[in-house]
Amino acid sequence: MVNVSRKVQELRGKLALVRTGGEAIALVPTMGALHEGHLSLVRLAKARCPRVVVSIFINPAQFGPGEDLSRYPRDEAKDLAKLAGAGCDFVWAPTVADVYPEGFATRIEAGGAAEGLESDFRPDHFGGVATVCCKLFGVVQPSIAVFGEKDYQQLCVIRRMVRDLNLPLDIVAGPTVREPDGLAMSSRNAYLSPKERRIAPALHAAIQSLAAAISRDIRDEAALIDRLRADTERRLIADGFARVDYVAVRDAETLAPIEPNSRRSLRVLAAAWLGGTRLIDNVAVPRPARADGS
Ligand code: AMP
Repeated sequence: MVNVSRKVQELRGKLALVRTGGEAIALVPTMGALHEGHLSLVRLAKARCPRVVVSIFINPAQFGPGEDLSRYPRDEAKDLAKLAGAGCDFVWAPTVADVYPEGFATRIEAGGAAEGLESDFRPDHFGGVATVCCKLFGVVQPSIAVFGEKDYQQLCVIRRMVRDLNLPLDIVAGPTVREPDGLAMSSRNAYLSPKERRIAPALHAAIQSLAAAISRDIRDEAALIDRLRADTERRLIADGFARVDYVAVRDAETLAPIEPNSRRSLRVLAAAWLGGTRLIDNVAVPRPARADGS
């Protein structure tokens, strides 16, 4: 059985005892509706630290008007059973009023990697994510916090925030866990109709092909990359996606647009709508094999 806390003071009291015993704490922030992707992060956390805290909180501050806040899937009993088997020690499942009590008035403004991509479509999203993560870090005071590469821009934003604000923890990334057909696991996949579910893996397939094509030898040809990117968007529409918000090739660390002749790592990121469901995914651009074999 995992140990569940609702109130900040309750969790703080339990974690103070852990710290007195000298044990390091890892935090895995989630919004619940847990799947194998989340559980892989819990296992990663447990491999690094003796004590793991998982937060389950659907953060209203990161949802825009008209987004899926009210229908976001919730099943705490199932979540707790899954966490018990994955090595989680403590769950923090606060209410909205616990996290944002009367008079709450502070918000982190996320810049850098937060600019563009998701922010072009969800302008207040990363401010809400950064604020709640800052708060989670303050309450739990973990040695590490584990985030999934599935939400790659979020990972970059949190890394930047931790560096910029000298927050005393390390950010650890876990790889994206996928269904056997390549679809990235996501709580939002539950919204897909059977027909949409059959189309959904086309997003991963399309960005994988784009990443492979870029890695072959055209990393520096901006115009060609842009043409391939546009081809990928058209391919997604042909596959049955209703709309493509973006397919982008960016610097893997800063998410800045790519510079010609740079040898920096690249990432392909995409967001597209399948019916009324918005899917996001990303993949690394493999480093091209060098002619000298190095
Ligand atoms: P969420 O509950 O969607 O806010 O996600 C909580 C954490 O789980 C975030 O760090 C996500 O990036 C991560 N996550 C979500 N889906 C996956 C996945 N398929 N593989 C790995 N990590 C994931």
